[in-house]
Amino acid sequence: MKLLTDLAIVLRVVPYEERHRIVTALSQNSGKISALAMNAVQSKRFGSALEMFSAGDWHLVERAGQNLFRLDEAKIRRSFENIRKNFETLTLASVFTELMIRLAPEGEPAPELFALHSNALAVLDERAKTWTQDFTLPLLNSFLIKLLRWNGHQPQLTNCSQCHHPLEDLELEMGATLLVEEAAWICSTCRPTTAHRGRVSMAGIQDLQNLHRIPIKHALSFALTTPADQKNIFNYLENLFAYHVPGFDKTQLKSLRFLGLESNPQSAAASPL
Ligand SMILES: [Zn+2]
Repeated sequence: MKLLTDLAIVLRVVPYEERHRIVTALSQNSGKISALAMNAVQSKRFGSALEMFSAGDWHLVERAGQNLFRLDEAKIRRSFENIRKNFETLTLASVFTELMIRLAPEGEPAPELFALHSNALAVLDERAKTWTQDFTLPLLNSFLIKLLRWNGHQPQLTNCSQCHHPLEDLELEMGATLLVEEAAWICSTCRPTTAHRGRVSMAGIQDLQNLHRIPIKHALSFALTTPADQKNIFNYLENLFAYHVPGFDKTQLKSLRFLGLESNPQSAAASPL
C-alpha cells in the first residue's frame, strides 16, 4: 500500500454500487488515473471536489496489483464553476475532457497535457460570462494544435511544401491548400486554389502558426482572420487527428455535435489535395 498526493482535474464520474463513485481524472504527476471514492454519494468529505472539471488535491492509496486507486480525501482547489453557466463553454470543456480521456497516458506523467487542460479550463471559466461565438473556434483550434504538438504530429507551417517560400514572405491575401496526408500546406502559386475544403488564406495559416506558438491563455487576445478560415483550420486539424494519431478513431468527438460544427473527416481526408 502506497500513499500519494496529486493535483487532479475530474474527467469522468461513474456511480459504483449505490453509495460509491469511480472518478477518472487528469493528474499533474501520474497522467490519467481512476480512483474509487467510497461512500462519495452521501459523504460530505469530498465536497464539490468530485464535480466535473473540478481541480483538487487528492490523497490516494495505491493498492498492489490494482489499477484503481482508493481516494481517501479530495480538497477543492478550483471548481471552474462558471464553465457550467454557459452552454458553449460547457460544450467546449466537454470536448477538451473527451480528448483527454482518449489521449492522456494512463499512470504516466504528462505535465504538458495537465498544463494545457487546466489553462484551457481557466480561459473558459474566466470568459464564460462574456463568451461570444467568435471565441469558440480559436480556442478549440489552439487546443487541437497543441495536442498535435504534444503527440508529435504538428503540421509543418513555416514554408510552402513545394516552393519552400517562407510564410512571412507571401502576401496574406494569397490562398493556400492544406494538405492532410503530408501535414503541410502548398501556396496558390504552386497549386492554384479552387473552392474545396482544404482551402485557406495565408492569413489563416499565420493564425494557426500563432495559435501554435503562444500559450493557450492568450489564444483569444489577438485578432484573427475570418470565421471561414477558422472553420477550415478546424476541419484540417480534425483530419490530421483522424489521419495521423494512432488510436484516434475516425468518429467525430461526441460533444462536438453540440457546437454545430459539421465535420466529415473521411471525405476531406480523401479529397484530391
Ligand atoms: Zn509554393
